[in-house]
Amino acid sequence: MGYILGNATIITVDNDRRIIVDGAIVIKDSIISDIGKTPAMKAKYKDYEFHDMDNHIIMPGLINGHVHLTQALIKGCADDVSLIDFLANRIWRLMGSYNEEEARVSADICLLEMIKSGTTTFVETLLLSRYGLDGITDAVIESGMRGVLAKSVMDIATYASKDNIMCEGMIEDGDICLEQAIQWKKKSENAGDGRINIWLGPRPVGSTTKDMLQKVSKTANKHDMGIAIHFCEVKQDVIHMKNNYDQTPGDFAESAGILTDRTMLAHGIWLTKDDMQKLKKHKTTVVHCPASNAKLASGFCLVPELLEEGVNVALGTDASTCDNKYDMFDAMRLAAIIHKCRLLDPLVIPAETAIEMATINGAKAMKKEHLLGSLEVGKKADIITIDCNNPRLIPNTNPVSMVVYSAQGTDVDNVIIDGKFIVKDREILTMDEQAIMDKAKTIIKQVLSKTEINNKSKWKIV
Ligand SMILES: [Zn+2]
Repeated sequence: MGYILGNATIITVDNDRRIIVDGAIVIKDSIISDIGKTPAMKAKYKDYEFHDMDNHIIMPGLINGHVHLTQALIKGCADDVSLIDFLANRIWRLMGSYNEEEARVSADICLLEMIKSGTTTFVETLLLSRYGLDGITDAVIESGMRGVLAKSVMDIATYASKDNIMCEGMIEDGDICLEQAIQWKKKSENAGDGRINIWLGPRPVGSTTKDMLQKVSKTANKHDMGIAIHFCEVKQDVIHMKNNYDQTPGDFAESAGILTDRTMLAHGIWLTKDDMQKLKKHKTTVVHCPASNAKLASGFCLVPELLEEGVNVALGTDASTCDNKYDMFDAMRLAAIIHKCRLLDPLVIPAETAIEMATINGAKAMKKEHLLGSLEVGKKADIITIDCNNPRLIPNTNPVSMVVYSAQGTDVDNVIIDGKFIVKDREILTMDEQAIMDKAKTIIKQVLSKTEINNKSKWKIV
């Protein structure tokens, strides 16, 4: 027997981009089995349990295209510093000290925040062996989320420039990384009823040679894996490719074999029109992370230009050290706002486009648009409901505007993944939320103390 969510406004993101007023969605097992007007669905499925979603917006679960699970624990530990200082003196030292338990607690906190704010699928770009790959996989399976987990790959212990040396705890061997990724895939691909996929996550060009990226490309082809990589986040990446290979970013990525229809390039800030054409040719996705780019002063990803060129652009938060939240409502709002200001054009990135970037474009990036990213019959039942009984969301005369410009993650009150309620009336059903928060409070003290990082406020503590 299935169930119905009805009496709602449904933003389907289907091919016709229909918005169904007084709509109902019917769920059977893990699949959307029907969708339409509430009276018709109620009459057709009389025996199904009915959930009254009056004054709610129902929409596809959000897809966060660029996440770092293991940075949730160290949020607030690297604010208001330059990118190099951010990495070398904070992030690498903290994360390079992690044991498996600390990494698992960070992943749990991150998963909690993502699920409760309406994200149902995510792509994690850089998972080091020291975090405990099995523990991270278990965390995602137990949470009920759908996730792409990419094994980090690197062969140079620097980032961006050769003076920016990684700390010992972050350094891995490229060939060993590739073998670990293959073994991990054999063990965990499609675990959790198909919710887990294992990909390759090479580090940026300053940390990974072209030879190694070519090995990544061959491994991805042979073992049917996607590739997630930070690309052109900083100007030094472009300089590095020019100085070391005499190539533009597009030529470099193409000749390294990493431009595929299942590659997600995070940031893509310094791409030129020629580079964009190469991405379009290979159906490669750029993942826009507006808060991270702004806070780290990395620059503007040219999102309207990429979309105009026909490149698929998904949306991400990045880590909670550079976004400080894993809230995709925040990401949608920023993506819809900042490019208007940059181009002095209020018509670019309308709210509809921001929703597409956070849903169907993310599904396309993973080559899962036949299963995810919209509410259509036959697709996976990954669904969120937004409670609009709230002064910020009333009156709701335009649901798309409400979602992008007014809503926030805390307005999500139900999350369904694979047909199962994971959050019901704002309560998470798969995780012990209080126990995880208590553990995170204790374990961050341990991490800060062993790294001797002083994270006190600049203001006097009394
Ligand atoms: Zn990142």
